Amino acid sequence: MKKVFIKSYGCQMNHYDSERMLESLTPLAFQQTESVEEADMVILNTCHIREKAADKLFSDLGRLNQLKNRRQQQGHKTVLTVAGCVAQAEGEEIQKRAPYVDIVIGPQAYHRLPQILETPAYQNADEKISTLGVVDTEFPIESKFDHLPKNRSKTNVSAFLTIQEGCDKFCTFCVVPYTRGAESSRPVSDIVKEAQQLVSNGAQEIILLGQNVNAYHGIAEKNAESWGLARLLYELAEIDGLRRLRYTTSHPLDMGDDLIKAHGKIDVLMPYLHLPVQSGSNRILKLMNRRHNTNDYERVINQLRSIRPDIAVSSDFIVGFPGETDQDFKETLAFVNKIGYAQAFSFKYSARPGTPAATHDHQVDEIVKDRRLQELQALLDQQQHDFNQKIVGQIIPVLFEKTSRYDHQIQGRSPYMQLVHAIATNELIGHIRNVRVDLAHPHSLVGTLQPVSSGYTG
Ligand code: SF4
Repeated sequence: MKKVFIKSYGCQMNHYDSERMLESLTPLAFQQTESVEEADMVILNTCHIREKAADKLFSDLGRLNQLKNRRQQQGHKTVLTVAGCVAQAEGEEIQKRAPYVDIVIGPQAYHRLPQILETPAYQNADEKISTLGVVDTEFPIESKFDHLPKNRSKTNVSAFLTIQEGCDKFCTFCVVPYTRGAESSRPVSDIVKEAQQLVSNGAQEIILLGQNVNAYHGIAEKNAESWGLARLLYELAEIDGLRRLRYTTSHPLDMGDDLIKAHGKIDVLMPYLHLPVQSGSNRILKLMNRRHNTNDYERVINQLRSIRPDIAVSSDFIVGFPGETDQDFKETLAFVNKIGYAQAFSFKYSARPGTPAATHDHQVDEIVKDRRLQELQALLDQQQHDFNQKIVGQIIPVLFEKTSRYDHQIQGRSPYMQLVHAIATNELIGHIRNVRVDLAHPHSLVGTLQPVSSGYTG
């Protein structure tokens, strides 16, 4: 067996892609290793969302080149691969600045990895091979999903399943439409089959993934109709043994009535929604090309809350978007107060080369961005703590996923996506059990396991 080390950066979709890359390499006798030192192949599955992603990549690559040289002196070949969104956006630059990288492959082309590794250049090369020099960052006509192994080999208790990729929205700060390409949805039957397999492999929860997941419009082979996300959720909810269903990330514009209603009708659909608003200022939303305003967003949240009053809402925020004034920022704070979030992610705006906002004239000073970010995060942390506090004393079902870093504890997620720690044995990992919440920290809960006879654990 040969060994492959893979490091995933960024979003859940990259983690899903990494799992699929590993599965596609299994027929070539590769097995995963946690030790980069012993790897015959190293894959960095990169993310372009973080600031200075490319700089970070080049410094990682510098270290890996030293490792590659050391291994070469010991007679071992190491295939260095850069995958993901930085590969897509900076493929040529990587080849220029790090010519020792063997393969640069974009997120829509990684199903071709086995094919590349079977080329004579790889197969016949002796240990002195310098580089394969393959750059594959096209958006192929064929869907990678048709070429990936049909059988999912590994499954987590909470498993990701990509149903949709790419985006046609073109928010002015975002690289996704350029790195992942145009919006495309997988056929219904493929998704259902994969979900069934994940459940029969032990998944209790499935998190449907897509850059714009609620824009899903896959073809149902039965009648060649196009299904939206709501209809797909109803179908997946029928899978025997599936206890929890979630989806992320959504766009407010694609929260149709049918999808909102599904939150009141599908038991296994968890009462949690990540719905990024990005800013509470309509002027900034327009500059961001978000195509929704704060009223649209509020209407969706109100509808959801009237159908599912306990739903926990989460969001992303960007502060210091070019042109953002103190008044715009105040409007964001006021909007956060109005909506009330269970949790949220907030970031300082940083320019992504090639996006329209990157060349906007009115970039905001870093000191101002820092101040605004601190202020917003303090408010969001307070809201998260308040939301957690309200759950103290309640008994909630927790899906335990892994051992906790605290002694004798395991950890899992509440229906509202909160991290919950409880004293319990590892045998409960992979199961849903009732927990009485004793303590709320700002970012997690601590509770006591309840006897199985304590009733509902759905
Ligand atoms: S909708 Fe999301 S993925 Fe699409 S461009 Fe906007 S931020 Fe990027």
